[in-house]
Amino acid sequence: MNGKNLVVSDDMVVRIEYTLTLADGEVVDSSAAEGPLEYLQGHGEIIPGLEAALFGMSVGEEKEIVVTPDLAYGEYDPDGYQLLPLDAFDDDVELEPGMALDLVDEETGEEIEAFIAEIRPDGIVVDTNHWLAGETLHFKVKIVGVRPALPEELEHGHAHGDGHEHHH
Ligand code: ZN
Repeated sequence: MNGKNLVVSDDMVVRIEYTLTLADGEVVDSSAAEGPLEYLQGHGEIIPGLEAALFGMSVGEEKEIVVTPDLAYGEYDPDGYQLLPLDAFDDDVELEPGMALDLVDEETGEEIEAFIAEIRPDGIVVDTNHWLAGETLHFKVKIVGVRPALPEELEHGHAHGDGHEHHH
């Protein structure tokens, strides 16, 4: 083992076990099901509040981290809640509340993730807020691995871990 490589710092690929709990105690995400999360430190691959709190931790170390919305998924934006006309949707798609949608911003061409909040006779109410917007997040984290990133990972700005989707 090379001790120099075992501390979380920029350009290192970090593996964490974690449990994410909301303020009311509800567990909303955990590495227990799919195994540890692997990410590239210092490149904004994970939320800023978590990335900052993990910096400097060692392999094997555990920590409880509380992240406020401004350093997580942002405050809830009431303007993100809007009514779209029915003819904006394809007839052949069966729409249901809670369904995830990929919208495209007409000005920027950027893809926006949204979900259907409500189906009304005059249109579809969609919510573009992240489902964790406005939430204070409580993480229980254990560092289970740290390694230097590969050149390709640094170029892409994310870890190329096994078992994770590779988006470009
Ligand atoms: Zn990549």
